[in-house]
Amino acid sequence: MTVRVLTVVGARPQFIKAAAVSRAIRDTAGLTEIMVHTGQHFDADMSDVFFDELGIPAPAHRLDIHGGGHGEMTGRMMAALEPVTAAEKPDWVLVYGDTNSTLAGALVAAKLHVPVAHVEAGLRSFNRRMPEEINRVVTDHVATLQFCPTVVAVENLADEGIRKGVHHVGDVMFDATLFAVKQAEGRATVRAELGLDKGKYALATVHRAENTDDPVRLAAVLAFLREQAAGVPVVLPLHPRTRQAVQRSGVSLEGLRVVGPVGYLDMAQLLAGATAVFTDSGGLQKEAYFHRVPCTTLRDETEWTETVTHGWNRLWQGPPHGPRSDITDYGDGRASDAIARVLKDVA
Ligand code: UDP
Repeated sequence: MTVRVLTVVGARPQFIKAAAVSRAIRDTAGLTEIMVHTGQHFDADMSDVFFDELGIPAPAHRLDIHGGGHGEMTGRMMAALEPVTAAEKPDWVLVYGDTNSTLAGALVAAKLHVPVAHVEAGLRSFNRRMPEEINRVVTDHVATLQFCPTVVAVENLADEGIRKGVHHVGDVMFDATLFAVKQAEGRATVRAELGLDKGKYALATVHRAENTDDPVRLAAVLAFLREQAAGVPVVLPLHPRTRQAVQRSGVSLEGLRVVGPVGYLDMAQLLAGATAVFTDSGGLQKEAYFHRVPCTTLRDETEWTETVTHGWNRLWQGPPHGPRSDITDYGDGRASDAIARVLKDVA
């Protein structure tokens, strides 16, 4: 009997994580995947490039839903996901991370009595004003299987009474990074295109609502990046949301090396040669560590606390980096295989 996994993705970080797990699912006899793309991210450089570069099979269903407020977007996704999930009759609905696509997939499945498996379960910022935090908490509480990247994530779930179905499998982003580093060799071109020398630039990304939605905060973040740029160029691949916020608020991007969003292989090349990373992205905080580049997080808290306690990360308004040591939580690059195994064995 084949175990059917219906995967719901919609946003850039989910394509990257799902690429790794999808590969493991394809390599596992007895598992089959049906992928649904909600359309939350739809630009070629926010979506297609990841499918192409990371070899993700074309989604079986494209819902083409994006824009609108959180409620509207999530509601429309749920309305579209319900008939697809009912018709596909999966054994699992697999969701990733903390976006509206995650929440919509999890809620629809739970209401149809299809068990939910959550990759990147148990992360908490303890800041309920973050839309991502609400998505995580609700998803974790309706999920049957919790795939945790860290020990802290397992503890967070235990604190909320979730102990059954919890698996510390490691971080699928580490799997993704190892794959990208190999693929990037001879294929990534971004450094040459931008005329950047290895070890002579810093890398920044900004896209969180908490930074983009308030023009004063956005100006402060960009001013901070400009200060960092005094020593080396700061490359800023701009997220579409941030570009819109900059245009709306008239905040200046002067002094920064602004480029469009880059593909994952180019990102791996940029990370490999950077002296420092400045970011509000969850994924990038760990990727900085995977490339052993010190990170400064442009937020007031982080879910990836081990990056801070092991000296690889700091909060931009917090204390300096502590002494560095290796982080074992993230596993050995085979988190995706572990996930595929559990999906098969528990079904
Ligand atoms: N990323 C990318 N190109 C870019 C910016 C980011 O490939 O121009 C990758 C990045 O390396 C990380 C992921 O996208 O793996 C992070 O996505 P994002 O910052 O949108 O979301 P978050 O990690 O905060 O959920």
